[in-house]
Amino acid sequence: MIQPLVIANWKMNGSYAANYSLLTYLLPDIAVNRRTRVALCPPFPYLAQVGQRLIGSPVWLGAQNVNQHASGAQTGEVSVLMLRELGCEYVLVGHSERRAMGEDDATAAAKFAAIEAAGLVPVLCVGETLEEREAGQTEAVVARQIEAVIDAVGVARFVDAVVAYEPVWAIGTGKTASPEQAQEVHAHIRGLVALHDPHIARELPLLYGGSVKPDNAASLFQQPDVNGGLVGGASLDASAFVAICDALEQSHRDAACQPV
Ligand code: PEP
Repeated sequence: MIQPLVIANWKMNGSYAANYSLLTYLLPDIAVNRRTRVALCPPFPYLAQVGQRLIGSPVWLGAQNVNQHASGAQTGEVSVLMLRELGCEYVLVGHSERRAMGEDDATAAAKFAAIEAAGLVPVLCVGETLEEREAGQTEAVVARQIEAVIDAVGVARFVDAVVAYEPVWAIGTGKTASPEQAQEVHAHIRGLVALHDPHIARELPLLYGGSVKPDNAASLFQQPDVNGGLVGGASLDASAFVAICDALEQSHRDAACQPV
């Protein structure tokens, strides 16, 4: 069974004081014995602060972006080895907010390769805009974004990766994909990875992202191909984030109790 996973994307939010207080409320409520894995992706300047606080807790550290080059003349950029030294386990790749700044499929593929080669877990974000959905292009867009990475690095590199389906029209807008819409695209993603390698596809964690909140989390997480969430806005509120993690934990327990 795929381990349920919730990743918090703090985006460009936080301060030393705000992070301290968020973690103070959050960490005691993330139960040690839960099956759900939880990771936090703060902005780069706070990775050390958050990483220090996570030592001895069951919560993992992640980063929101990385440069694909190992070192050198890349002013303002950060390498995977730097993230590894800071204790990161997960790195987001191809988030739509970065694609909107010009990151293309080829760059996402190069970043994915660098993350995986450094032994960290790439979280490949894919998703369609509203115009693309309305034009009936959702599956084609998501397929293009995933195939670009498979073509560049090979499907075997997905063995320890995560894919997050994040419809662009649902990110930070308060609009969420319905559970059925999310399941449909997740099943499509699993199906297209299965064309390359059925075993990797079966084990690939697929997260949904896009205005996940405590009141819609349970219905999304009950979908068979939704293995967790990538949570932006709601991850800045300790009680909302804990409620989302609890909803995933509960859906996973319910699924484990289903007769086969
Ligand atoms: C995100 O940033 O990946 C995200 C899903 O944001 P939000 O939950 O705020 O829509």
